[in-house]
Amino acid sequence: MISMVIPLWNEEDMVDPLMARLWSLSSKLESDIELVLVNDGSVDNTHEKLLASLNKFSCWKLIKLSRNFGQQAAYRAGLDAATGDAVIFLDADLQDPPEIIPDMIRQWREGAKLVTACRKSRAEPPGRKLFFGLFHELFHRITGGVMPKNSGTFALMDRAIVDHLKKMPELSIFFPALRSWVGYRQAQVWYDRSDRQEGKPKQTFMRLLNYAWDGVTSFSEAPLKMIGLLGFIIAIPCLIYAAALIVIFFLQKLGFLLQLQVLGFTTLAVAVFGLGGIQLICLGVIGEYLGRVYREVKGRPPYIVE
Ligand code: UDP
Ligand code: MG
Repeated sequence: MISMVIPLWNEEDMVDPLMARLWSLSSKLESDIELVLVNDGSVDNTHEKLLASLNKFSCWKLIKLSRNFGQQAAYRAGLDAATGDAVIFLDADLQDPPEIIPDMIRQWREGAKLVTACRKSRAEPPGRKLFFGLFHELFHRITGGVMPKNSGTFALMDRAIVDHLKKMPELSIFFPALRSWVGYRQAQVWYDRSDRQEGKPKQTFMRLLNYAWDGVTSFSEAPLKMIGLLGFIIAIPCLIYAAALIVIFFLQKLGFLLQLQVLGFTTLAVAVFGLGGIQLICLGVIGEYLGRVYREVKGRPPYIVE
């Protein structure tokens, strides 16, 4: 059996088209499908509409979270409830076509433990597109390519990977990279990503930024290392400048270079404000990591099922 985990947050307009696409897909699949739908604290009619349309399917679970916990936590709730030999993550907004799932299943049957769907192209507003492009490039570099470029949450995972993921207690979870990090044989399928069919993106820009930052901080200490590097970059010219000033001071005592005036105020102001700003940024970066450590240490559950 194959589980399909789908998180929904205020997606009432998507329920009918989604269920229609899943229904026509399930008739084409040879494997049995277990639908695991996670209602991530919707305040519209998503839950009722789901209940009304699910009875067509022979095997399903509908999990209602006690409030909105966010996309990755919702996926985690679904992952914990899924019982299939493989688990597929799929967004409810149909930006990722369920029709490529048979291809993913074929690759899995041929031995891949993780089949990631990667985007050949994406139809999205230019701002988001630029952001995604930048993120993938940067993330690829600083993590040494832990996750395939241009992939998202859409993927098929073998039970072996699922069991490893379930044992990981991370709260600031970033599934796209974490499941690749687990290892095993991995494969990719390629597709064109369309824009959202109904409703607004639920992942607002701030949420996306936060999500990207979760990814970076949970897979890389590069921002922390950059602080040390920045310190060197600033400190070395400062030391050279200070040494030059000392030399000039003594030369002037001996009567040389008397026409040279060392201007104090501008240098001082730039140094104080510039360095103050840089120090605050560095403290902020450390604070971000510390905040994440704090959140993890508290050990609160990633989601609560109502
Ligand atoms: N989603 C969720 N909880 C949230 C945000 C999003 O369950 O807090 C779901 C949403 O309903 C959709 C999927 O996650 O099924 C992806 O959301 P969206 O399309 O907004 O993300 P994007 O396409 O921008 O990655
Ligand atoms: Mg979407």
